[in-house]
Amino acid sequence: MTSGFVEVAPGIHVLRHPVLDVNVTLIVGDTSALLVDTLTTAGQARELADMVAAMTAVPLAVVNTHHHFDHCFGNAAFLDAPVYAHPEAIDRIRTTDPADVWREWSRTHPGLSGVLDTDIRVPDRPVVHETALDLGGRTAVLRHPGRGHTAGDLIVHVPDAALVVAGDLVEESGPPGFSDAYPLEWPDTVSALLERVGPASAVVPGHGAVVDRAFVLAQHERLTSLAWLIRDGDADGAVAEKVAARSPFGLDASLVAVRRGYDQLAGRG
Ligand SMILES: [Zn+2]
Repeated sequence: MTSGFVEVAPGIHVLRHPVLDVNVTLIVGDTSALLVDTLTTAGQARELADMVAAMTAVPLAVVNTHHHFDHCFGNAAFLDAPVYAHPEAIDRIRTTDPADVWREWSRTHPGLSGVLDTDIRVPDRPVVHETALDLGGRTAVLRHPGRGHTAGDLIVHVPDAALVVAGDLVEESGPPGFSDAYPLEWPDTVSALLERVGPASAVVPGHGAVVDRAFVLAQHERLTSLAWLIRDGDADGAVAEKVAARSPFGLDASLVAVRRGYDQLAGRG
């Protein structure tokens, strides 16, 4: 089978999946391998499992960077693997209904209809703060850097390869997604992520091309200005539309962010 995985560092392979441009990362050690995220549908995940099996025979562990369907609905294709995630993500995965996902996405992404026949496997290994996995000859550190894209984001740091898998805390192919976000906390969370990102590091975003430290710094700057716009707007009693219009991100994404930020400042989110 032709694999869509590309080796971005020794033993670290990234699959940039055409549907939603979502990334899956495979980190291969001497005695085990770690798969970061599992795509959306049972069909996509079966294909992914075949690709992974063709690349390595060592036992597999899985980690979900967060609860959004495109990162975790494929878990059931990896039944023998332990699945790590943050407790907040585990709760949300447990209560997500594939029918709701289909209702939201069917118009723009009819190819995701397989989501309705997909069994959801809830992660069984909670990571509250940090867990280091010995993969044999290399370590992968799973870490919750704080709230940002969601309440339960995890990043994966592979120190020997100077590589960080950021999930949707970093987005390359579109604006950050704010529907479940904490826009006022997101900048600090990216700062915590940046502590793991050296000058020569590679960062795998949740969607799009692999990026570098400079890209993450620029995104941090934009998230910081958005957070200040929200705080100022709230203090001035400005309507959300007016604040969103000044945001460095697109209007639609920013409007969601401003409303989330206002709710959180009012103690409602
Ligand atoms: Zn997401």
